[in-house]
Amino acid sequence: MKIAVCVKEVPDPGPLRRIDPATKRIDRSGDRSLNTYDLNAIEEALRLNEAGGGGEVILVSMGPERALESLRKGLAMGAARAVLISDEAAAGSDLVATSLVLAEAIKRESPDLVLFGQQAGDSDGAVLWAAVADRLQLPVVSQVSELSIDGGKVTAKRQSEFGYDTIEAPLPAVLAVSDALNEPRYPSLKGIMGAKKKPQDVLSLSDLGVSADRAGEAGSRTAVSALSPPPSRGDTQKIEDDGSAAQKVLEYLIERKLV
Ligand SMILES: Cc1cc2nc3c(=O)[nH]c(=O)nc-3n(C[C@H](O)[C@H](O)[C@H](O)COP(=O)(O)OP(=O)(O)OC[C@H]3O[C@@H](n4cnc5c(N)ncnc54)[C@H](O)[C@@H]3O)c2cc1C
Repeated sequence: MKIAVCVKEVPDPGPLRRIDPATKRIDRSGDRSLNTYDLNAIEEALRLNEAGGGGEVILVSMGPERALESLRKGLAMGAARAVLISDEAAAGSDLVATSLVLAEAIKRESPDLVLFGQQAGDSDGAVLWAAVADRLQLPVVSQVSELSIDGGKVTAKRQSEFGYDTIEAPLPAVLAVSDALNEPRYPSLKGIMGAKKKPQDVLSLSDLGVSADRAGEAGSRTAVSALSPPPSRGDTQKIEDDGSAAQKVLEYLIERKLV
């Protein structure tokens, strides 16, 4: 099967998510890596093709050109090639603009299946897959924790608040996989060495036939108007560890009848 997996480079998770006050966007200047949730999608694509007699797994991403470094992790795991849409005019794209660009890139590939991770670890929207499926007019199943492909259709078990739904959909379809679906493999040394040599196409918006006014801030329907830090909790106490911290924590908990 030809499987497109949408993946995103995200800033490394840290205790604080930095927002650049000038641009009101996430500060992406530090260390970055492939979105962890996407590893489950890559793993599943590889497993489906290993079990089903072959095929091609293609990574599709929109981001700055340096994102190729992160995409190589997916290539090292076993994906055949990467397609990165990188264009100055795409910077600042919101959900609407991002979904348009990704949908156009996926159309060029005509995959049998499109996989996403459940959410991106930086903006945590957990919604892009639905927007892309809508643009492609394909069925979509989210939170997939089990799946099988047979006779041109996918059967997916999805977790909901009330239990599990089992949904059947004809291919091609868009699936957003849950991180409970599988355990992503570690790239082998051979995979890491070979990743750089795999095809990595960098496309512009015009390569996709998307005009610059439909991407980036110009093509976005949302704008961040203001940012403020979350209110601090009044009842916090900072305990410096001078050797008695454990005792102090215990006393604090006993006082509140928590232990
Ligand atoms: C005003 C505004 C400006 C923004 N500017 C930027 C910006 O400059 N750069 C930026 O990266 N984001 C920007 N964003 C965030 C951007 O809109 C989101 O990245 C996008 O809508 C996807 O949402 P998400 O990241 O929450 O993904 P989710 O919906 O949480 O992700 C679901 C799945 O989609 C995949 N995915 C998400 N984004 C991509 C992508 N670009 N390529 C391939 N797969 C993807 C994830 O990896 C995951 O598997 C901006 C948002 C707003 C509102």
